[in-house]
Amino acid sequence: MPRIYLSSPHMGGGELALVQDAFQSNWIAPLGPHVNAFESEFASYVGIAHAAALSSGTAALHLGLRLLGVRRGDEVLCSTLTFSASANPIVYEGAEPVFIDSSRDDWNIDPGLLAEELAASARRGRLPRALIAVDLYGQSVDWDPVRRACAQYDVPIIEDAAEALGASYKGARCGTFGKLAVFSFNGNKIITTSGGGMLVSEDAGLVERARFLATQARDPAPHYQHSTVGFNYRLSNICAAIGRGQLRVLEERVARRRAVFERYREGLSSLPGLELMPEPSHGRSNRWLTCILLDPSAFGATREDVRLALAERDIEARPIWKPMHLQPVFAGCRAIGGTVSEDLFARGLCLPSGSNLTDAEIDEVIEVVRATCRENVRGEVRP
Ligand SMILES: *Cc1c(COP(=O)(O)O)cnc(C)c1O
Repeated sequence: MPRIYLSSPHMGGGELALVQDAFQSNWIAPLGPHVNAFESEFASYVGIAHAAALSSGTAALHLGLRLLGVRRGDEVLCSTLTFSASANPIVYEGAEPVFIDSSRDDWNIDPGLLAEELAASARRGRLPRALIAVDLYGQSVDWDPVRRACAQYDVPIIEDAAEALGASYKGARCGTFGKLAVFSFNGNKIITTSGGGMLVSEDAGLVERARFLATQARDPAPHYQHSTVGFNYRLSNICAAIGRGQLRVLEERVARRRAVFERYREGLSSLPGLELMPEPSHGRSNRWLTCILLDPSAFGATREDVRLALAERDIEARPIWKPMHLQPVFAGCRAIGGTVSEDLFARGLCLPSGSNLTDAEIDEVIEVVRATCRENVRGEVRP
């Protein structure tokens, strides 16, 4: 049996012809017609006015912080339960991340804790410069209370929708809830350009400035003239061609990931001590990854037991993101709450969820997980 991956690239079939077109026109560069077309097709899919195609989601977050004027010594609030790429760019700018715990309802930033922290920082006279809130595993933040709290103190939001392309909140697509939002097209995301990212906004000026900063901040002059420090963060025309092909199958990818989740739900939800990631009524998840939570006393095995049993069968599964406030690299940063994300990390596991998995492969995963459950372990007494 071939290895079963957590989330592997899934080409739609049309990508190669678009890449060939890029070769034929000799736009083998970090600009060109596919970059422009990818930006406009992407913006219209998300339902936002402007988009800048960049070399990664991390680059998009970094530019986002620059655009919002984040400076050395500023505080930037950030979801603690996320991938480190959400928080690293805060440190690139010399600012200090302050991590906020998750809500049980959707595993995303807890709006109540956020409001308390904003009120406390206003009393201290030191408001954060920005908030980075993550739509985790393709499940939207509860945006209404989060936006209300930030609006009250004029704190701009960067929506980290790297995992949430194709998901929505109350009918509007993820990526439309911040002053800026970012997406990722890394190899494991719901669509991929092999590597790439997008920064989107309703504000034309911000996105224009992002393109300027992403191409070494060249002033309009015949010679090379620079008045500010720039970056080399644009997406290649080749990668943009792949992205355009992937965009054409995005809806199918979301439908398949949701079907993968459903198959797991049918196969696993009857097991004692096993829950699946919730999907509150406010959001429609893209189910980028199917995540389970285990209660070891009822289930009879820990998430590590299950992960190792899967690894034994050459099946890749990963613990839920380790919260940023527990990461050695962020030791000493402030954290607001933390027990919810700590519990999700201790008990949570991401199962293989690629849109290219076959039903037989999903059933194999289900079978291994079921076999680790106490009620299915024969002749062995487990604590
Ligand atoms: C993948 C990811 C990123 C980073 O995107 P890259 O394109 O890999 O740089 C940022 N935030 C979250 C939540 C992610 O999952």
